[in-house]
Amino acid sequence: MQLFENQEIRVYNSLTGKKEVFKPINEGYIGMYVCGPTVYSNVHLGNCRTFMSFDMIFRYFRHLGFKVRYVRNITDAGHLVDDAEDGEDKIAKKARLEKLEPMEVVQRYTVDFHNILEKFNFLPPSIEPTATGHIIEQIEIIKDILEKGFAYETNGSVYFDVAKFNKEHEYGKLSGRKLEDMIANTRNLAAQDDKHNPQDFALWKKAEPQHIMRWPSPWGDGFPGWHLECTAMSTKYLGETFDIHGGGMDLKFPHHECEIAQAEACNGKSPVNYWLHANMLTLNGRKMAKSTGNSILPGEIFSGENEILSKPFSPSMVRFFMMQAHYTSILDISNEALLASEKGFNKLMEAISSLKSLNTGKTTNFNIADWKSSCYAAMNDDFNTPILIATLFDAVKHINLIKEGTETITEEDRTELENTIHNFVYDVLGLENKSSSDADSEKLGGVVELLIELRKSARENKDFATSDKIRDQLASLGIQLKDGKEGTTYSL
Ligand SMILES: [Zn+2]
Repeated sequence: MQLFENQEIRVYNSLTGKKEVFKPINEGYIGMYVCGPTVYSNVHLGNCRTFMSFDMIFRYFRHLGFKVRYVRNITDAGHLVDDAEDGEDKIAKKARLEKLEPMEVVQRYTVDFHNILEKFNFLPPSIEPTATGHIIEQIEIIKDILEKGFAYETNGSVYFDVAKFNKEHEYGKLSGRKLEDMIANTRNLAAQDDKHNPQDFALWKKAEPQHIMRWPSPWGDGFPGWHLECTAMSTKYLGETFDIHGGGMDLKFPHHECEIAQAEACNGKSPVNYWLHANMLTLNGRKMAKSTGNSILPGEIFSGENEILSKPFSPSMVRFFMMQAHYTSILDISNEALLASEKGFNKLMEAISSLKSLNTGKTTNFNIADWKSSCYAAMNDDFNTPILIATLFDAVKHINLIKEGTETITEEDRTELENTIHNFVYDVLGLENKSSSDADSEKLGGVVELLIELRKSARENKDFATSDKIRDQLASLGIQLKDGKEGTTYSL
């Protein structure tokens, strides 16, 4: 018997605009696809939040005993600057500016992406396919769409015929847009390109001579349109219809709308049962953008090397902060918010550390079974991590009262409490208890400061034998003292 057999999960489906009971196509199995990063720069903190939301969802499904195939792609070609239909490939542009091979750019930022995600304690997806590894599959889909009559070729490029598709299907159903409105709102850019209509989107683009990322195709040398890779990879690994498709809110239109159109044009049926969208992250109340300086990289938060925050914050603490907001809500990151969240994080971790040595008694003052089902109820309600965390803090309150001796807990309940907290905090939320090592380094810092003080007074008393001994012995332990105008500092 698996845990999921007793749980009813409800998810907010962007396609219907409703919270629905989640029922996978095959009982016990879940197929989930999430649009991954375009690897042309360091991973954005906002993207980390999106991927973290789906990591948490993946973790909860696994905790419940589902067998999940989680596919998260890497976009290493086809994504044009400004998400536009024309112009330069984001990766090729970066390669040109930095005088690198496009695949050097891809490698560099894929490594950065994985590094950051590992620091945040992400689980690796089941499959992490790349767009360039699936050019053949993409060409096959284009052939299929052409055959079904929903695309046309002009001048070496192939475009999806949105107007024709909309006659039999509904283009815009995910984002709630109507094709008539889109047409009314577009200025008529005559001879803008080879498209019949401005709403049409590229399935295959002819490569101009200077375009370095190019592949042969039945329509000549070119490269696939950005939306196509996700259709190719999700269909290949999850089938024509699968359970969950996720991504950032900003991808709803046009990217996800186009994915639906491509798949329906090929297979005549809706590719995804539940569309889940994660909301954005703002910084100090404003949209993050490098151009305005209102931006921060994950690595800069961990190291403290930034102008925005007063101190470094550990990846697990930032993860806790992000989990304190529901994934469909906008979250604002600021120094004050992080400092406040850190207090909560430390309190939670201290309570967990003390669980093992908790004195047990004959009775328990709170109902562990009820509390535990509240934890599941929170997660079953569209993965409501802020409510889960609030429920975990109910337990923290009792743990502290037991520590004070005001309340008691039986040994059996203590074990149940510990197991449940571990499941939700470590396995589902993906947090790590790094506070013990932080506390150790704080203690070490205190000891070194004390020795620096002793050395200072030894020198004042002209006891150079002692002062040298302190300096040399610390050095032999790998702690270097440096005397400066402002006093003595140390480095490890
Ligand atoms: Zn995608």
